[in-house]
Amino acid sequence: MCSRQSGPSRSTDRVRAGGILVLIAGVAALARAQQPPDVPPGGTAFDVGHYAVTLELDVAAGGITGKERVELTVREATASLVFDSGALTIDSVRAGTASGGTPMSFRQAAQRLIVTLPVPARAGERHALDIAYHGAPRTGLTLLAKSAQAYTTFSTSQWMPTVNAPEDRATLDLEVSMPAGWRAAGSGREVERRSTGAKTVYRWRQARETASFLFGFVAGDFAEATSRRGTVSLRYLGSTFSSGELHRIFRDTPDMLAFFEERAGLPYPGDSYTQALVATSGGQELAGLSHMSEEYGRLVSNDATATSLMAHELAHQWWGDLLTNREWTHFWLNEGFATFMASAYKERARGRDAYLGDVEAWRRRVERLRAAGLDKPLVFPEWNRPSADDRAVVYQKGALALHELRQQLGDTAFWAALRDYTKAHAGQSVTSVDLQRSFETSSGRSLGAFFNAWVHLQ
Ligand SMILES: [Zn+2]
Repeated sequence: MCSRQSGPSRSTDRVRAGGILVLIAGVAALARAQQPPDVPPGGTAFDVGHYAVTLELDVAAGGITGKERVELTVREATASLVFDSGALTIDSVRAGTASGGTPMSFRQAAQRLIVTLPVPARAGERHALDIAYHGAPRTGLTLLAKSAQAYTTFSTSQWMPTVNAPEDRATLDLEVSMPAGWRAAGSGREVERRSTGAKTVYRWRQARETASFLFGFVAGDFAEATSRRGTVSLRYLGSTFSSGELHRIFRDTPDMLAFFEERAGLPYPGDSYTQALVATSGGQELAGLSHMSEEYGRLVSNDATATSLMAHELAHQWWGDLLTNREWTHFWLNEGFATFMASAYKERARGRDAYLGDVEAWRRRVERLRAAGLDKPLVFPEWNRPSADDRAVVYQKGALALHELRQQLGDTAFWAALRDYTKAHAGQSVTSVDLQRSFETSSGRSLGAFFNAWVHLQ
């Protein structure tokens, strides 16, 4: 995500639950009889292994209808299964079996779906549920009839019941039905594209376990340009640009991808990467794709060097997606890394001075934080209602910390440690302690003083 957008901050479970519960407390005397219970965040008692979602977009009406199969393993004994479900309306929940399943008792409260199990589940049990739902999302999924576009942005539970917590990684089958003739890209590998009557249907399979906030798609009456880097096919989509313009705007992509592969020590984690220019976007990374605004596309069209945002979103495919912050309190592991890596690419493409210009901008921002008494460690005690200054800590101070670590270790040891960290934790959710241990093991140096000064809560 780009620092200018709201990101997960305002949408984490605890924020919503907290806000709602405070509100509830205020009206408790009046509504004691209907007082909703304290609903825990989705997924605390279980791990989801796989989601299979079929989604129909009614772009003209601004609505969606969905069917979802969820397969999960119970982690601790529980009488109910709680999912994050945003503002969706749940129509039915059935125990998932081949023969259609038994209806299950459920209710919705505090943007959660609470499914009551007929018999309490024990740790280790596997369950499958079939959920039918509909809604008219106001966040999480943008449906634009006039611009003929539809695209997802944080958070996923606004268009499919899920577990928002970033540590719960799962695989996904996603089928989306959209107006005929639209072009689309979604998380994972495209496995089907068919048109019937007034509809075009795409199906994607995300086979690598991924945090659900990275599930998503873009769809629209788009022009398309394509390119390739090694085995990775690159697609560029946009509805207010010609194919030639799209190709020009995104022409650095193969070079960026090669640079990040080299720095990560790992190939791009997929067989395709799509970038889309949509009506409004602050920059959003999703598994296998990203979107940026049409305005940003015009900016790059006029200034071919303004590629930091697209580099930032591409860097997230490794740092943010392949390695994901385990808790939002360690968000800098996603955003500080993407910010730093975009500037590292700038150094490669445009020289040392261009990189140092970014470093100085981060330093000035951190100095302003310090002067205002708003400087904080990179790990937050909680990530509830972060301010713009808190976000500057995560993005700009996070990037500056990586630059300072690079200065301290020297280029050879720093990039070797970054590769070791990335390879050791690929496919996992990470904390700042994982980063410290990895860098200490790789460099053979104690970094306690550095991490205490920059990263950890004291
Ligand atoms: Zn980002």
